[in-house]
Amino acid sequence: MAWYPGAQKLELQPESNDQAAIIPTQFIMHSIAAPWTPRRTYEYWRDSTNLESHFGLGYDGSIAQFIGTQTRADANYRANLRPDGTGAVSIETASNNDATDPWTDAQVEQLIRLGVWLHQTHGIQLRVCRTASDPGFGYHRLHSDWALGGSTDCPGNARVSQFKNVIFPSIVARVTGAQEPTTPPTTPTTPTAPSRRRPGAYRAIGV
Ligand SMILES: [Zn+2]
Repeated sequence: MAWYPGAQKLELQPESNDQAAIIPTQFIMHSIAAPWTPRRTYEYWRDSTNLESHFGLGYDGSIAQFIGTQTRADANYRANLRPDGTGAVSIETASNNDATDPWTDAQVEQLIRLGVWLHQTHGIQLRVCRTASDPGFGYHRLHSDWALGGSTDCPGNARVSQFKNVIFPSIVARVTGAQEPTTPPTTPTTPTAPSRRRPGAYRAIGV
């Protein structure tokens, strides 16, 4: 199993020992709908649910890894472990309770760095996943097979925009040596339409 050198290791047991191996072919980004530190996210996985992500990311850019990237984690429904042995690496990121705020600059930077490491370590392909099983990079709501019940807003509109315009292009740029896109300032966004999900449902359906 592989552990990211840039993360604090907070190993989640018994999942880390007991869950099946995967060949990581995707990286899927989430918002956890709570303003949690990585340690608080670890405690939530440990104490309150059978679900878990591989990584947790705080607002300040602090990052922790809970499970090796070649072990199944359960944040992505059908992408967790496919019949061919491939699966997705997942990260849950601190957000406001409705997951409507943008990632902070520190979060954006860490997502880029982790994406580069996943490409270099596991050969995750430098493209946005075209289908639910296509190797590459994505965010939770990109494909319905990645969410229990087929529907989620995660990680929120502002973060989907950041993924498309900054994070994914910057991962590609750092790997290939091309010029990175300019990071737009993360000004507060005007609240948008209310979330489809009812309050509190987010965590229950598997973030
Ligand atoms: Zn999610």
